Amino acid sequence: MTKILALANQKGGVGKTTTSVNLAASLAATKRRVLLVDIDPQGNATMGSGVDKYRLQHSVLDVLLGQTGAEQAISAAGGHGYDIVPANGDLTAAEVGLIQVPRKEYRLRDALESLGDRYDYVLIDCPPSLNMLTVNALAAARGVMIPIQCEYYALEGLTALIKTIERIREGVNPQLEIEGLLRTMFDPRNNLANDVSAQLLEHFGDRVYRTIIPRNVRLAEAPSHGIPVLHYDRASTGALAYLALAGEIIRRDQRTAGDSA
Ligand code: ADP
Ligand code: MG
Repeated sequence: MTKILALANQKGGVGKTTTSVNLAASLAATKRRVLLVDIDPQGNATMGSGVDKYRLQHSVLDVLLGQTGAEQAISAAGGHGYDIVPANGDLTAAEVGLIQVPRKEYRLRDALESLGDRYDYVLIDCPPSLNMLTVNALAAARGVMIPIQCEYYALEGLTALIKTIERIREGVNPQLEIEGLLRTMFDPRNNLANDVSAQLLEHFGDRVYRTIIPRNVRLAEAPSHGIPVLHYDRASTGALAYLALAGEIIRRDQRTAGDSA
């Protein structure tokens, strides 16, 4: 069964795209079939995967507007072991374009359903806002992964996001769950980061991933080369952390599958 995860947080710069790209590469390295869907007009996940956003034949916008099937929009990325549905600035037109189409919240869900069981994991990299694009991602997903930078305003933003998730669950997608909260860009020498981390664990318990993503310059460098960190510097703390995250997710899913069998 395909597991669809949306990486969402309306705050920008918290590590959504870095996590999407590097988790996609890490899951692929553990022999999972992975599709990364870029649904952010900034197209950072697209570029970070080695796909030139200025030369797209088809993008996620065509898929959302029904001008292309999902199948036609998939690109094999830069040979990093996962596929991608790319995005670019054209996607800013989606908000207006979607007004005129039926089932406007379900465009992405319907498109992904057409792919059947082709993938083990679909990761959706959301924009830093709670707009129709994010609604499409949350309507298509089974779980939301929330990257969080452990700083002063982190918890405040989280309340708004959780309210949105609850509203989506009541209306558009009753199956939606918070899959996990991921601590990103973590610096253990920072007292505030440790305090916020402790608060997250207190409030969300098991829903906080054990794996912590450290601040690591390799993670910031890799995108400018259009490659996931795993293929840029395999031994970096960033690469190892995302491999560990992939392992944690796979183990969790195996346990859940075992429970329901
Ligand atoms: P978002 O998609 O949530 O806006 P990004 O993943 O683009 O956030 O990250 C914001 C910036 O921080 C980018 O420049 C990225 O390279 C950098 N970055 C992300 N995670 C890390 C990390 N763990 N260590 C160092 N830099 C990081
Ligand atoms: Mg981003």
